[in-house]
Amino acid sequence: MKFISTRGEANKASASEAILQGLAPDGGLYVPEQLPPLDPKALDPGLSYPETARRVLHPFFEGDVLEAELPMLCDSAFSFPVPLRYLEEEKAVLELFHGPTAAFKDFGARFLAYSMEHLQREAEEELTILVATSGDTGGAVAAAFFKRRGIKVRVLFPEGRVSARQHKQLTCWGENVQSYSVRGSFDDCQRLVKEAFVSSEVRKIHRLSSANSINLGRLLPQVAYYVYAAARFLDRTGKKPVVVIPSGNVGNSMGAYYAAAMGAPIARIVLAVNANRVIPDYLDSGTYRPRPSVATLANAMDVGDPSNMERLRHHFSNFQDFKNHVSAISVSDEEIRESIRLTDRQYSYPLCPHTAAGEHVRRTRLTGEPSIVVATAHPAKFETIVEPIIHREVEVPENLAALLDSESRYSSIDPELEQLFPELV
Ligand SMILES: *Cc1c(COP(=O)(O)O)cnc(C)c1O
Repeated sequence: MKFISTRGEANKASASEAILQGLAPDGGLYVPEQLPPLDPKALDPGLSYPETARRVLHPFFEGDVLEAELPMLCDSAFSFPVPLRYLEEEKAVLELFHGPTAAFKDFGARFLAYSMEHLQREAEEELTILVATSGDTGGAVAAAFFKRRGIKVRVLFPEGRVSARQHKQLTCWGENVQSYSVRGSFDDCQRLVKEAFVSSEVRKIHRLSSANSINLGRLLPQVAYYVYAAARFLDRTGKKPVVVIPSGNVGNSMGAYYAAAMGAPIARIVLAVNANRVIPDYLDSGTYRPRPSVATLANAMDVGDPSNMERLRHHFSNFQDFKNHVSAISVSDEEIRESIRLTDRQYSYPLCPHTAAGEHVRRTRLTGEPSIVVATAHPAKFETIVEPIIHREVEVPENLAALLDSESRYSSIDPELEQLFPELV
């Protein structure tokens, strides 16, 4: 299997070449040359999660140096439960928050980290991963790469602009993971990372790479949980589910489109977005207009120009084809609050604000169709929003509690390259 760039100007790459490069050299995103059909055995509801993932991922790695390592990579990366929780007979929630940082990003970040560690085994030079984060991504990446050999990580976050629990998840590492509290905004963090990538001084001493959500190594593992969940849902109810996905950069939902196109038993896919309406507006008007993001309660979905949109559009031949397959509903902060309140009252089940957007779409738009809502994070990560709405405490799960209990260490820096890389001077 080879991967091509969405912009068509780069050479074909194998899976591991695409993983190490991140972005294609022509600035495009890597996509599979063609989507392989699903191995029917991947739909066996008797398989464990890592066994399912291995079967789903295998065709993408056929002929690649990582092919023989897939079983080991899947066992290591997906070492936590992936429960499908039924609120009603035909209404399930796919809980993707049982990984170390209690959000779905653990799946992609961990698979990427173990893959890169393996690819680094023979390398002479250490790899340095730079991540600028406004909150969630940096924690998942830091956790995933902690203690991976041959790789160092520098995580940059804006000082005073992440929540107390996010701060903890960004700073409780050490060893090969260094955290930097940057006196500036998220944009300053991102600018600093970009400056580092183009600085010949920095590149003289560091082999740099990135771990952002457009990396194929984060995308491919996200195909597997849709196959796993849809197969189990079909086995239990005899029906194919509609899948509702809280979305921002559309990385998570890209996995669902791939799963459905490969033959997973999914009736259709509906994206739930927050007040950042760029995709619903595109569906209405036919003109794609990226814009600055607006802040909402579901802040991991505050995206005005979804980074995977180029990939999603690539898979449809024209706007009508896109419109036939993609649907997206915008959910307001008021509706998110109402959804948290109603769902907790009806099922005693607290939702994070992102998942609540998905549950709102199910309640108001699906009229009883069999369905799965994807729970992207544990509500305890957003306790300052959720607890005042449900008037009780959200229990902190063990995975998260372990992180919150550990010691913080980080450096405070100004947004200047010499402070991020003091070794330059
Ligand atoms: C990242 C994130 C999202 C959005 O996922 P995309 O892949 O960017 O669409 C939704 N919810 C949570 C909790 C997230 O961390």
